Amino acid sequence: MIMEEWKKLMDCRTIVVKTGSSTLTFPNGRLNYHRLMRLAETMSAIQRSGKKLILVSSGAIAVGSGRMGINSKPADLADKQALAAIGQAELIRIYRRFFDYNCQKVAQVLLTKDIVINHERRVNASNTLAELLKMDIIPIVNENDTVATDEIEFGDNDTLSSYVAELAGADLLVLLSDIDGLFTADPTKDQYAKLIRVVNRLTEDMEKSAAGSSTGFGTGGMAAKIAAARICRSADIKVVIANGSRPGILSDILQGNEAGTLFTWDRDPVKSARPG
Ligand code: GLU
Repeated sequence: MIMEEWKKLMDCRTIVVKTGSSTLTFPNGRLNYHRLMRLAETMSAIQRSGKKLILVSSGAIAVGSGRMGINSKPADLADKQALAAIGQAELIRIYRRFFDYNCQKVAQVLLTKDIVINHERRVNASNTLAELLKMDIIPIVNENDTVATDEIEFGDNDTLSSYVAELAGADLLVLLSDIDGLFTADPTKDQYAKLIRVVNRLTEDMEKSAAGSSTGFGTGGMAAKIAAARICRSADIKVVIANGSRPGILSDILQGNEAGTLFTWDRDPVKSARPG
């Protein structure tokens, strides 16, 4: 039964892939070029097979910090915004290089939360994404960190990616993280914590086990992923949380192999989470 639900992912046509700073960088903040190269290679191959992909990539602040020799995330907003400006340009340059190598065109899309609040901007962003996908281009999306202040910021790219999935009419959001998926408890503290293979319904226990903060350059942690999953649920978009340390895992997922936690939103209220 669990396997069958994963198998259905083979039919997904439009997929948003979100990768976090902790997946793209080493703990000292320096960029993991090898992983980025593999990600570009895997995504280009999937796109060539006829699917449409959007990449939501964090890493601007981490890359900017790395370039300036700063090895922890700054607390000051203006510092973060300046480092994001430095890092975003560098990040896109690197993605361009790796995607070019795989003959795949990409575009940069920087968004703020006004695409959620303001109808006109929402329509514009949605049209732009649709047009890019039609042109067979992979949009690389990030929050427009240099202008994002309280009222218009998503704050974390997990949330941003769920709205992007909604705007693009995607059928799947894959959140690549530094953890294998959602566990019954915090696996770093509880040796009996089990990976949950399929989630049909978010429970209070899950929310509790997901609470906690992220480390290093990461932002939202598991709590933000659960919040993103909740947004996707209302748009009926499936979500997978998987370990991004091996970007090839994306191909495994789209070939219907179990590789993390799948949120399928079976509307049957009797069913609940099934530890695997
Ligand atoms: N937009 C931020 C960046 O590129 C990251 C936000 C997040 O990690 O979720 O650095």
